[in-house]
Amino acid sequence: MRLNHAELLTRFRRHAVRLTRQRAAIYTALAETTSHPTADDLYQTVKRQHPMMSRNTVYYTLGVLQQAGLVQEVNVGHEVARFDGNVTVHHHLICLGCRQIVDVMDEGLNQLAVSNGQARGFRILGHRVEFHGYCAGCQRGKLDVP
Ligand SMILES: [Zn+2]
Ligand SMILES: [Zn+2]
Repeated sequence: MRLNHAELLTRFRRHAVRLTRQRAAIYTALAETTSHPTADDLYQTVKRQHPMMSRNTVYYTLGVLQQAGLVQEVNVGHEVARFDGNVTVHHHLICLGCRQIVDVMDEGLNQLAVSNGQARGFRILGHRVEFHGYCAGCQRGKLDVP
């Protein structure tokens, strides 16, 4: 999905974040991938077009964008945080082998609710379902091992 400037501006305004060139570059790089990159992956991507961008700027900016709700951290017990530019309700398939994270869009999962009496006074604002296992590639790899 390519983001145009007007759409970018709308999203930043909606989340009350000032749009700067650096923020635009980092946010766009994240919004245009579904690979759930680490901050360092993003830095490598952004650096190609913005050689002056520092690693610190990318880390700091991700924090700003996350605070504002423009991006989310997908933390799945991996040692390194992964980021998602898609903040609409969706779920993830997580490979325990190669660590890839794949989006799952499923209306049924979106409708999940805690059954009556289980909410324990929580006001629930959302949920995210994670499926853990091995992707097709990793399963094949496993079969090759004698
Ligand atoms: Zn895998
Ligand atoms: Zn995702």
